[in-house]
Amino acid sequence: MEKKIVIAIDGHSSSGKSTMAKDLAKAIGYTYIDTGAMYRAVALYMLQHGITEESAIVEALKDVRVGFALQTDGSQHTTLNGEDVEGQIRTLEVGNRASQVSQIKEVRAFLVRQQQAMGEAKGIVMDGRDIGTVVFPQAELKLF
Ligand code: C5P
Repeated sequence: MEKKIVIAIDGHSSSGKSTMAKDLAKAIGYTYIDTGAMYRAVALYMLQHGITEESAIVEALKDVRVGFALQTDGSQHTTLNGEDVEGQIRTLEVGNRASQVSQIKEVRAFLVRQQQAMGEAKGIVMDGRDIGTVVFPQAELKLF
């Protein structure tokens, strides 16, 4: 079997990279990992629990488990503590909150660690503004 690699795609949310990343992953049989969805899931948890203070957000991270559940059609749904939250994280409110929580360095460290662990399995396509630089500086293929 051919060697699987990590493909890192950097760019801003609006650049159409997530569609490209998804299509690419599908075409080559790789797993697409939506890092924005991970920030959205953390934001949703904080909204659900009314947690707004930075220190409280950092403290609450220990209670947050973000995952992805593979669907029968091959797509993935984001999960938060085992619950499918794919619909709930796609609102404007959650998106705005995600961009706030993503500025907290402990939140970034928390998710970057998990993204790196997911990359150990190889055969993944991951996109986000820090993927080729921070998460996988050693990625075999980087697209900007
Ligand atoms: O791409 P999406 O809109 O789902 O991302 C939600 C938010 O998460 C972005 O506005 C951005 O602030 C943050 N994000 C990030 N780093 C990533 C992916 C997303 O900070 N790798």
